[in-house]
Amino acid sequence: MPDVKTYDQAAIERLSAQMEGKEPPEILHWAVQEFQPGLTLACSFGGPTGMVILDMIMKIDPTVEVFYLDTDFLFPETYHLRDVCEAKYGFKTIGYQSLLTPSAQAQQHGEALWLSNPDQCCELRKVEPNHRALAGKTAWLAGMRRDQSKTRGDIGIVEWDTKFNLVKVNPLAAWDEKQVWAYVIANNVPYNELHDRGYPSIGCTNCTKPVNPGDDPRSGRWAGLDKEECGIQEGSITILEHEGKTEAK
Ligand code: SF4
Repeated sequence: MPDVKTYDQAAIERLSAQMEGKEPPEILHWAVQEFQPGLTLACSFGGPTGMVILDMIMKIDPTVEVFYLDTDFLFPETYHLRDVCEAKYGFKTIGYQSLLTPSAQAQQHGEALWLSNPDQCCELRKVEPNHRALAGKTAWLAGMRRDQSKTRGDIGIVEWDTKFNLVKVNPLAAWDEKQVWAYVIANNVPYNELHDRGYPSIGCTNCTKPVNPGDDPRSGRWAGLDKEECGIQEGSITILEHEGKTEAK
């Protein structure tokens, strides 16, 4: 079991401020030095940001653990991308599944829980497995960017995740979509082929639709429902010391 360091608010604040303006590989080098062993990367194989972080971290320290949340409702293209990455980078990723099979969920909570109560569905199939994935870890790397949505506009590069009681590092927080795709192309990084078919943001089959060119890239997620996040990324304390602002989300 790795040593889990504790960080008070002032330390997180200082670290996040120190990382502002640094390039993502520099942030990742620091994260490896600070948290490995015990650092883990959450990679959904559903968005280019996670693929960029995966490519960068594999070049820095291929022993960093990679996990994904296998909701049982992922697209075949997502599983295919996982297999492609395992072959390219030579690692074995860990898929965390819900404690309930889809049929047990339907029996206990009704058919199509993603329509009747998507928050509960995400809790059962994403949040609870994410707790197990992060148990005993020293920090996690997440593929969140400030330009992705209003709810992510103020994320820090280093945060304290109150939901999972762990340091979260968002190495690409300050990058935009253009920078991400430029890196993908320049470095021949594998990506989910659904992006070429109108899906800019990819989650579960039940809750992901293609979007029209020019539309909000995340508008195809939980379309028609009052929901923007799956509940995993909602527990961070964002500390933007450089802007003189401290707030809990
Ligand atoms: S994204 Fe949809 S199907 Fe997937 S866990 Fe959440 S509500 Fe359920």
